[in-house]
Amino acid sequence: MRETTRVAIIGAGPAGLTLALLLRRNGIDCVVLERRDRSYVEQRQRAGVLDHYATRIFERAGLAGEILTGAPLETLLELRWDGAPHFLDVPSLSGGRPSRIVPQQLLVRRLLAAVGDVRFEATGVALDDLASSRPRVTYTDPDGSSHELACSYIAGCDGFHGVSRGSIPPSELTIYEFDHRIGWYTMLADAPPPRYPLMAVSEHGYAAQFARGREASRFYLQYRPGSEDPFAWPDDYAWDQLRLRLGDPALATGPFTDREIVEMRSFVAEPMAYGRLFLAGDAAHIITPMGAKGMNLALSDAATLAEALIADSPEKLAAYSDACLARTWDAQEFSRWFTEMVHDGGIADPFRRKLARARFERLFRSPPAAAAFADLMSGTDH
Ligand SMILES: Cc1cc2nc3c(=O)[nH]c(=O)nc-3n(C[C@H](O)[C@H](O)[C@H](O)COP(=O)(O)OP(=O)(O)OC[C@H]3O[C@@H](n4cnc5c(N)ncnc54)[C@H](O)[C@@H]3O)c2cc1C
Repeated sequence: MRETTRVAIIGAGPAGLTLALLLRRNGIDCVVLERRDRSYVEQRQRAGVLDHYATRIFERAGLAGEILTGAPLETLLELRWDGAPHFLDVPSLSGGRPSRIVPQQLLVRRLLAAVGDVRFEATGVALDDLASSRPRVTYTDPDGSSHELACSYIAGCDGFHGVSRGSIPPSELTIYEFDHRIGWYTMLADAPPPRYPLMAVSEHGYAAQFARGREASRFYLQYRPGSEDPFAWPDDYAWDQLRLRLGDPALATGPFTDREIVEMRSFVAEPMAYGRLFLAGDAAHIITPMGAKGMNLALSDAATLAEALIADSPEKLAAYSDACLARTWDAQEFSRWFTEMVHDGGIADPFRRKLARARFERLFRSPPAAAAFADLMSGTDH
């Protein structure tokens, strides 16, 4: 079956759905192809915070009611060093730019409801004629029928393991990769959430606890990739480590409902465009979770691409990659800075521990340093 559309969007994650919503609300025809089924996409738990800049994307488009209703504003951020609490009022320090707590699966459910038609379980997606003025996407639907979509543009929003980036000739891309040599064991638990997002530096390693709804918490424990296997840790040991590193002997516990490993790595593919294909979100860049920028960068890419497509502006489309990469590298630098501060505080090397401590103390001693931190946490409009 052959059909035409203005924009073929590959992937129904935060980037693809935000792009589709912004385009459709501006009368631009698009088709969204998603490899997984709807319930998998709706239930995938990952990020938890929309930074202020990302919330503005929906507010500016008149979509706050559909996407942000009821999402609590972030208030304080708690950072502990060897159990001693320190608080940062990020919204005030950033000049009144609060982030909102929006679990990724809730955001995706709301986006799906607002977008409407998404073609789930589209397999064998292939991208062709990218350098021509009429690129094509072929795929197979769940009934086994083959489809061909002729379009003006393709948005590759299919995450790190998707097909879009690999459709660009390797000679056209420069890849930057960095392994931070840090692992996180992350556990979702039916345990009461902390009052504020909590990150703890300790000589035993980094730990964190974030709210995931009213009754659940996501916990993180740093581990050494290659020499430790946290999946082999008994739950009692994980709770002991959380109490120790959070400096909270009375930490309320509950059953773990999910366990995952996150290896801290960074990845950027440049440029984020080839012919009529534009990459957005994790398809083009991966960032460590420190600073919580992964989902927010995906949304920012989608907004920048939507603006260029809605304006039907060759100049804006030509500027898309550079604009997104500038924002991405800014976030990568912040994320690396933050990663070093909270992880080096626990490593054996005493010199790096001292540097991490100096970095930490500067945040609470110097108002300009705290304001710069808050500015990056809130997300910048560039
Ligand atoms: C454990 C974990 C914790 C995280 N925590 C945070 C956090 O606190 N804050 C934050 O901002 N970010 C966080 N992130 C990162 C964040 O989840 C991602 O940056 C975000 O999901 C990127 O959105 P995306 O739309 O670019 O890609 P994705 O969410 O990966 O969506 C891509 C979509 O494309 C689909 N797809 C893939 N291949 C194909 C194909 N061939 N054909 C069709 N469809 C395809 C996929 O099924 C998927 O639905 C975390 C990630 C993980 C794994």
